[in-house]
Amino acid sequence: MIINIQHDIDLHAHTHLSDGKLPPVELVGLFREAGVTTMAITDHDSIGAHLELSKHDLDGIEVIPGVEISCSAAGREIHVVGLDFDLNNAAMLAFLAEQQQRRRERIRLYGDKLESLGLEGVNQAIDAVKAESITRTHLAEILIQLGYAKNNQQVFKRYLGRKARAYVKIEWPSLEQAVAVIKAAGGTAVLAHPGRYQLSNRQLKELIRQFKAAGGQGIELTYSNIDEKTARWLLERAEEHGLFASQGSDFHDPAWPWVKPGRFPALKSGVEPVWSLWQ
Ligand code: AMP
Ligand code: MN
Ligand code: MN
Ligand code: MN
Repeated sequence: MIINIQHDIDLHAHTHLSDGKLPPVELVGLFREAGVTTMAITDHDSIGAHLELSKHDLDGIEVIPGVEISCSAAGREIHVVGLDFDLNNAAMLAFLAEQQQRRRERIRLYGDKLESLGLEGVNQAIDAVKAESITRTHLAEILIQLGYAKNNQQVFKRYLGRKARAYVKIEWPSLEQAVAVIKAAGGTAVLAHPGRYQLSNRQLKELIRQFKAAGGQGIELTYSNIDEKTARWLLERAEEHGLFASQGSDFHDPAWPWVKPGRFPALKSGVEPVWSLWQ
């Protein structure tokens, strides 16, 4: 059974600069209303939200610099969250610009493939996406909107997923490169939602070992809908490798009833939290 509780620290969330629904100021307002006092905005390969927020006074809530970097390891697309880094770091900015470029190109290739399968109107809709960092979630929404599938799950199964007919492979940077750019910018590298990569326990063990060897410091030990067994297993891995615990909802959209600001199972005691590194 999954027992969610309300937390005041939530270190994983998205705005409309990537695949979230809300503009940064609205997202922060929603988190504040929910009782969150410390949050990180972690858009996919984008820090545009933080640049936007720097123009505003944010009362009653602390927003920590964050990003969720896509990289490659274990034959999968793995996500590494960077926290508390220098938002002006030149190497980070160049890295993210390249990631955004790579994403655009990939989605264009998807568009061409989908159009050649007879799905008309996809390319035009792709061109209208305004997000700084375009994702397959945008593409999924487009296909649903155009009536080519009924929901996200169906879109990925039919068209976008790793085994689906329009899949476009992408050359992401390595896990080592993702960790390195975060650390070079003064940040903390955290392995995102380890239970979501569809890896066997053995593969996941190897991924965590590789992440630690690359200099990774933290691991998400609790997030929306994590089950008790996975949470316990991950805690053991964190203890084994001396990784710091992180936690976050991975909030995207107020219309998703299963993800709410600051709501996820309690962090189990046993390892130090990542925020102890900053205090
Ligand atoms: P991207 O970063 O462009 O590869 O988009 C990745 C996002 O697509 C993930 O964060 C998920 O939200 C979504 N996604 C990826 N694979 C699936 C899947 N099999 N089913 C549903 N959503 C998926
Ligand atoms: Mn996302
Ligand atoms: Mn992710
Ligand atoms: Mn995320």
